[in-house]
Order: sequence, then C-alpha cells, then structure tokens
Amino acid sequence: MEQKLILFDFDGTIADVFPVFVSFAKEEGFHPAPGEVDELRNLSMREVVARLQIPTWKIPFFAWKFHRYFEKVSGDVRLIDGMATAIQNLHGNGFTLGIATSNSASNVKKILNRENLSGCFDIIRSERNVFGKARTLIDIVRRFDVEPETVWYVGDEVRDVEAARKAGLKSVSVVWGFNSERILRSSNPDRIVTIPEELTKLFNEKIG
Ligand SMILES: [Mg+2]
Repeated sequence: MEQKLILFDFDGTIADVFPVFVSFAKEEGFHPAPGEVDELRNLSMREVVARLQIPTWKIPFFAWKFHRYFEKVSGDVRLIDGMATAIQNLHGNGFTLGIATSNSASNVKKILNRENLSGCFDIIRSERNVFGKARTLIDIVRRFDVEPETVWYVGDEVRDVEAARKAGLKSVSVVWGFNSERILRSSNPDRIVTIPEELTKLFNEKIG
C-alpha cells in the first residue's frame, strides 16, 4: 500500500503557542499598543520581523531565546482543542505522520510525551533557520521515498504555505494559529481548515 504522509508544523498548529509568543515578546521589551497583536496576525513572519525592526542577524538569537523561554513555560502550553483527537484518528487510519518545526525537537517531544501522542509520529525534525523549512520538508520526503506532490504540510503561517510550495508539497492552512485567515487565504494554500475536525475529514475522505 502506498504510504500516505502528512507533515505538521507544531507551534500554533498542534500546540497553542501564540500566548507564549506574546508573553515572550513582552518579556523582550515589546509592549504592544491596543490592537497591535491582532494586527501582527495579518503579517507574514518576514513582515513581523521588519515591523518590529529585528535585524536579520538577530533572528537565530531570538529563536534560541524563545526555545529557552518555551522550555521554561512548557508545563503551561496546551494543545489546540481537538488536535489530539485529530492526530490519533489520522494515525489510527494508517496515515504516516511527521513534524517539521522551527521549535526545538526536545520541546516538541516533551509536550507530545505529556499528551501521549509521541507514538503517533514517525519523524520529528527541527529546522533552526526560521525561513528554512522547505529544506527540511524536502529531506523528510526523500527519507520516506514518496512523491512530494502526495505529501501534505499542515501549518498556521504563510511561511508554511511557502515552504510547502517550494518543496513541491500540498499545503493546508489552519486558521487557529499565528496568522489570520485573511493573510493565509492570500497566500493560496491548497486547503484551509477552520477546526481540527475538518482536518480529519479532509484527509480521510479526500485523500484516504
Ligand atoms: Mg506554526
């Protein structure tokens, strides 16, 4: 039987990380005006970086600091409601699941272990370069020896859609994470889902 591979982003897609990101940003001296946080959701990560005037060379440093902060508060990080069920369902239906994340693999594993979901994933890959996910996706596809166009990448940001496109994968955007539905739609993902149950339905019916 042909292997059906579905890859997931972690922050904002599986785990509810937006509140962690906002509290981290505040700790780093970002004090948003009313409505500014909502405004940032309409921007891609590249635009957020430009808006907050973060020099490119500092991005890896901030990513590292964010991983450390995340580690500290990981006990408080919750999964998106309905995602555990969706993941268990897809795994139970024979899909091969993986994670390509900009977070650290240890942070992701810690949370998946706590939620008893580790056994659902065949691969967890961390990409240090915030804008380097396409390379990780290509590596995973090669490792599983499948055709890229049969693989889906599920993510909550415009950069996830872009990475999937660059790697030749199909993309699903979820609207419950960092980016707003408006900007996700403008990035033209193959599908958009508004609740985790739609993910299960999409893969089981359309692809299964
Ligand atoms: Mg994300």
